[in-house]
Amino acid sequence: MTRLAQTPGLTDVQQEIVANVRSFVDKQIIPNAQELEHADEYPQEIVDDMRKMGLFGLMIPEEYGGLGESLLTYALCVEELARGWMSISGVINTHFIVAYMLRRHGTGEQKQRFLPRMATGEVRGAFSMSEPELGSDVAAIKTTARRDGDTGYVITGQKMWLTNGASSTLVAALVRTEEGADKPHRNLTTFLVEKPAGFGEVLPGVTIPRKLEKLGYMGIDTTELVFDDYRASADDILGGVPGKGFGHMMDGIEVGRVNVSARACGVAQRAFELAIRYAQQRSTFGKPIAEHQAIAFSLAEMATKVEAAHLMMVNAARLKDSGERNDVAAGMAKYLCSEYCAEVTQASFRIHGGYGYSKEFEIERLMRDAPFLLIGEGTSEIQKQIISKGLLREYREH
Ligand SMILES: Cc1cc2nc3c(=O)[nH]c(=O)nc-3n(C[C@H](O)[C@H](O)[C@H](O)COP(=O)(O)OP(=O)(O)OC[C@H]3O[C@@H](n4cnc5c(N)ncnc54)[C@H](O)[C@@H]3O)c2cc1C
Repeated sequence: MTRLAQTPGLTDVQQEIVANVRSFVDKQIIPNAQELEHADEYPQEIVDDMRKMGLFGLMIPEEYGGLGESLLTYALCVEELARGWMSISGVINTHFIVAYMLRRHGTGEQKQRFLPRMATGEVRGAFSMSEPELGSDVAAIKTTARRDGDTGYVITGQKMWLTNGASSTLVAALVRTEEGADKPHRNLTTFLVEKPAGFGEVLPGVTIPRKLEKLGYMGIDTTELVFDDYRASADDILGGVPGKGFGHMMDGIEVGRVNVSARACGVAQRAFELAIRYAQQRSTFGKPIAEHQAIAFSLAEMATKVEAAHLMMVNAARLKDSGERNDVAAGMAKYLCSEYCAEVTQASFRIHGGYGYSKEFEIERLMRDAPFLLIGEGTSEIQKQIISKGLLREYREH
C-alpha cells in the first residue's frame, strides 16, 4: 500500500483528469481557501478556471459539448475539490444534479435548450426541494403550481436552502400540481426556471431574498426562493409531463449522494493530512506527539476510516456507472462517508490541541464544514431508512 484513497483500474483519461484537478487544488484552492472562507467571498477566479477546465460539463454527453465522463470520474474530481475546500465542490454539485436530471428525464428540446450552455458553465444549475417546513419529508411540499389556461401554470410558495440560489441561472424546482392527486408524491412536478443570477426580484414573481448566514460552507450562496404568482409554461416541466417530479428528484439525489460521499472523503483526507503533518511537528514531553501511542493509534483509526470511506464511495459510483440499481450502495456510502468524515475531522481537531480552535489553522474550517455532510442530500436517519428498506426487499421472508 502506498498513499491512502488510491483507485485501481482507472483509464488513462480518468487518471489524467483527476491528476489535473488535484494539481489545480494544490496550487489554486488550498492556498486561497481560508482567506475566501473567512471573507465569505465568492471564489470567482477559481470558478472561472473550473469553467476553462471543462468541469461544469464533466458528465454532460459529448454531443452536447461536455466531456461525457462517468459518475466515478466526476466523484473522484469532487473528492479532490473538497479536499481543497468543500465550498468549491458545492459550486458544481447542484449544477451536476440538474444536468443529470435533464439528461435522464428532459425532453429533446429541453436537452438542446440547456445542456450545451450547461456544459460550458454559462448556465448554472440549482435544485430546490426543501421548504421552510420540510426537508426530509419531500412529499409534504406546499408550493403549488395552479393551472392557468391550457398551457400555463401560476406558481406560489416559498422554497428554502437553495445551494447556489443566487449564482445559478437555472433552478429545477419541485412543486405541487393538481394532476394525479391520489398519492402525495404523484402530484409533484419539476419546473425548470431560467432566471438571471443575483438577488431581489430576478423575474416577475421570482424573488431570491438574501444569502442565508451559515456555520460554515462559506463563499457560496445558500438562499431562499419565493414564488409569488410566477407564470410558467407547460414547456418548463421537466420531461413535459406533470406528476413525475418526485421520481426525477429522487433519481437526481441518488447520484447526489455519491457526490456527497465524495465530498466527505475529500474533507476527511484533508483532515488526516493536516493531522499527520502536525503530529510530527508538535513535540510534548521530549518527543513528537506522533510518537505517543494514543496519537499514533488515532492516526491509524483516521486512516482506516479514510480508506474505508473511499472504497465505499468508489463502489457506489461504479455500481451506478454499470447501470445497476444503487440506492442501497449510495445510501450506505453517504451514511458511512459523512459519519466517518465527522469523526476523522474531530480526531484531527483534537490532535491540533488549542491551535485547532484558531482561525489560522485549516482544521477549524473543516470542523465547520463536516457537519453539513451529515444533513445534505438526506440525513443519516434518512439513509438508514433507505438502506433498511432495500435490505428488507432483498432478504424478504415469504
Ligand atoms: C447548507 C445547506 C444547503 C442545502 N442545500 C439544499 C439544496 O440545494 N436544495 C434543497 O432542496 N435542499 C437543500 N438543503 C436542505 C437539506 O436537504 C435539508 O436540510 C435536509 O434534507 C434535512 O431536512 P430538514 O432540515 O427539514 O430536517 P427535518 O426533515 O426536519 O429533520 C429534522 C431531524 O429529524 C430527523 N428525521 C426526519 N424524519 C425522520 C424519520 N422519518 N425518521 C427518523 N428521523 C427523522 C432528521 O434526520 C433530522 O435529524 C440544504 C441544507 C443546508 C443546511
